[in-house]
Amino acid sequence: MEYRIHRRTGDKISVLGFGTSSIASAGEKEGIATLEMALQNGIDYFDLATAESASFPLFGTAFAGVRNQVYYQVHFGANYGPGKSYSWTTDPETIRRSVGWQLEQLRTDYIDYGFIHCLDEAGDWQRYQADGVLAYLEEQKSKGIVRHLGLSTHSPVLANMVLDTGLIDTLMFSINASYDYQHGDYANGSAAERMALYRRCEADGVGISVMKAFAGSQLLDAKTSPFGKALTEYQCIQYALDKPGVLTVLPGVRDRADLVRVLGFFQAAPEEKDYSIISTLTPKDAEGACVYCNHCQPCPAGLDVGMINKYYDLSKAGDALAADHYRTLSVKADQCIGCGHCDRRCPFHVAQSARMREIQAYFG
Ligand code: SF4
Ligand code: SF4
Repeated sequence: MEYRIHRRTGDKISVLGFGTSSIASAGEKEGIATLEMALQNGIDYFDLATAESASFPLFGTAFAGVRNQVYYQVHFGANYGPGKSYSWTTDPETIRRSVGWQLEQLRTDYIDYGFIHCLDEAGDWQRYQADGVLAYLEEQKSKGIVRHLGLSTHSPVLANMVLDTGLIDTLMFSINASYDYQHGDYANGSAAERMALYRRCEADGVGISVMKAFAGSQLLDAKTSPFGKALTEYQCIQYALDKPGVLTVLPGVRDRADLVRVLGFFQAAPEEKDYSIISTLTPKDAEGACVYCNHCQPCPAGLDVGMINKYYDLSKAGDALAADHYRTLSVKADQCIGCGHCDRRCPFHVAQSARMREIQAYFG
């Protein structure tokens, strides 16, 4: 397993997290065995926006004795209770009852990340505040029941609105090549607006947990993929992990077979994770912009082109730490020999050798 440190909370979070939407369908025995196997393989981050309330007791059984080894994202606005399927609400009393019930079933007295749940419209955010749900969430934080606040949304506009308040440490956002390039139900915002959001999160130390990394499986099927070709789970996971601010990707796991398959990401060869096929649909506003994919490797001078470009963009976006990170690289832009290999190889038509000169001048 690989881990990333949450800059604001200090939590060490596994890059592969666990989406629990369908875990209840495995049944009790298989569900518990799957959760235990996830932890044994180093997964420590679990999202609890699940389809069925029956998911919660599985966690209580699997993790009550190792609670300090796992992080829970719990959603204030996802309604659960005995025998219930998931429903969305902003009713404060329903949320109080639901969160209390979830804590009981999880056999815990605290929540690592308490989330403002699934708001995409400014009106919903206003109602969330006016109805007292935000106040309740903040009260739980002041009591130490909730350790950190987060927001789940599919909208860059709403995300920026909530980020402006300075309240949240984590953003759960739908990131995949389909939505980033304006295809699909949650393709909100232009490619440039979405990338600016990811950079803002990185600059502000707000960690991103990624939902819908496969666009609800649409990207995994040639018939529904906007690229006319199926992408693999590993390509989608790598795509999301390459975005600034991203700490963890949360694929939905139904059972141990699913888990074994997604864990195969760590054994996969670089070519199996290469998602440069998405360049076929790059919209005009994203053409010529580096997406940090490193498809242009190998660089004969040994430059990590993707990483150098990421630090450059982040530094320009106001990330105070990016210049320091850049300086720790053993091979920097000044060692570019201008061979043009990256220019020829880049599927996104980035004039990379010229950009390396720009980066060298910027960092000095
Ligand atoms: S220059 Fe092109 S190929 Fe290289 S990392 Fe950037 S986007 Fe990817
Ligand atoms: S132009 Fe520079 S960065 Fe690009 S491949 Fe050649 S040496 Fe590497």
